[in-house]
Amino acid sequence: MTMTIPGFIDGRRLQSRSCRTSSVFNPATGEQTGALVLASVEDVDAAVAAARRAFPAWANTPPLRRARVLNRFLRILEDRIDHLARVITAEHGKVLSDARGEILRGMEVVEFATAAPQLLKGEVTENVGTRVDSHSVRQPLGVVAGITPFNFPAMVPMWMFPVALACGNSFVLKPSERDPSASLILADWLKEAGLPDGVFNVVHGGKDVVEALITHPGVSAVSFVGSTPIAKHIHQTATLYGKRCQALGGAKNHMIVMPDADLDQAVDALMGAAYGSAGERCMAISVAVPVGHATAERLIERLAPKVRALNIGPGTDPNAEMGPLVTRQHLEKVRSYIDLGVAEGAKLIVDGRDFRRQGCETGYFIGGTLFDDATRSMRIYREEIFGPVLGIVRAESYDEAAELINSHELANGTAIFTRDGDAAREFAHQIQVGMVGVNVPIPIPMAFHSFGGWKSSLFGDHNMHGPEGVRFYTRLKTITTRWPTGVRAGAEFVMPTMN
Ligand code: NAD
Repeated sequence: MTMTIPGFIDGRRLQSRSCRTSSVFNPATGEQTGALVLASVEDVDAAVAAARRAFPAWANTPPLRRARVLNRFLRILEDRIDHLARVITAEHGKVLSDARGEILRGMEVVEFATAAPQLLKGEVTENVGTRVDSHSVRQPLGVVAGITPFNFPAMVPMWMFPVALACGNSFVLKPSERDPSASLILADWLKEAGLPDGVFNVVHGGKDVVEALITHPGVSAVSFVGSTPIAKHIHQTATLYGKRCQALGGAKNHMIVMPDADLDQAVDALMGAAYGSAGERCMAISVAVPVGHATAERLIERLAPKVRALNIGPGTDPNAEMGPLVTRQHLEKVRSYIDLGVAEGAKLIVDGRDFRRQGCETGYFIGGTLFDDATRSMRIYREEIFGPVLGIVRAESYDEAAELINSHELANGTAIFTRDGDAAREFAHQIQVGMVGVNVPIPIPMAFHSFGGWKSSLFGDHNMHGPEGVRFYTRLKTITTRWPTGVRAGAEFVMPTMN
């Protein structure tokens, strides 16, 4: 059965003026399950107008009351997590336990945002001059837009809107058109939690809807997560139009395996980090860098059989470790990268193109793939594949491994596996990457820290959620106060100083 998936504007599911729809599929079966109602430019105007109308009252709602709405939203999420996880699995394909995991990580940001009264406390200095006091406050920006990717249809929107709303902004979300239903459910549950109409809106679509949002005069700031070329474009356009913008891009995350590492631990870590969620994670490890010939040989000996033994199936299969890719086009793209790796001369140790399983014939499945002898000049090394394809690039020394990482244009996450504290400390200190793990393969910062990469993995000055999120969604105002005692000093034309 095909469901119609509308937008959400001013507290209601949207009856769009546009007649355009796009199809949503179940990646495990290849069946169309949804018809997504694409917003028109007028719908974007309506969403921004609703958000602008709702903004003043929401901004003036005491932070504690805003936090209470988020607290009720959190309880709804806790009660209905399984329902949301099933919706995510049905459109994204990831296994149910992983879908639950992304919701839980998003809920942690909601928990963080419920501390709004504490997060928004300003600073005061008494007597900046004689009987003169100063205080600083952080105020909301207005309407902020969020544009999100397919790979975390609940978590990435929840990196953004809980903090934005806690800070007193109103929000227009443009989720991925490939798995849009989660965003609509989140909108319904925010309303049920008591969020006033218009404070949170959802519009669907692709490039035209995004362009309308990021150039809209009624939008003050833009948060984006997606691939690097689009992130760069969003940041350039939004800032050209005078908006504050944070745009997180793609990744090619390396994991160094030092000769002294516990290899069983490193192999387990690589399995989860490279093949979990079919490699469709911005923090997936896609390059393993064993240091020294012996380390590489021992690593591959342990890793290859595990990659061959991956349990791949529909996300609803409780035994599946990895589900299908998100769309047929993405499946073809990942397959073509494997063809390319072979043509470029990398050594294909496990070939995911061979994957066959009864019942999975019509879904977008591919097996785990392992390349050895990838090199820095190959496209399969330089470019983000975003699938279950792990490349091994061998290094002779730690210095060579670190230099490889520091030379890459993408710098989202990285990890080192070692028992040597000195090497680990050196790695954490000098590596040119935004999020670093020491014996932690996917070092995603918790909600009360901030998430973001370096170089072409993030355009803008602010990471997401945590203290950086609060800074992004607020602007600083500093107020200087004097209560004159009746003594008139007369007009002063010199610069006010303490002298
Ligand atoms: P994408 O860049 O194709 O799409 C992201 C969003 O941009 C979607 O909402 C999409 O509709 C919109 N979009 C697509 N093309 C556009 C265009 N030409 N102009 C304007 N908007 C456009 O990304 P995706 O395939 O949905 O997601 C995967 C990518 O996201 C990967 O590159 C992954 O690394 C990245 N990602 C990064 C992070 C991070 O934190 N750095 C997190 C998750 C995903």
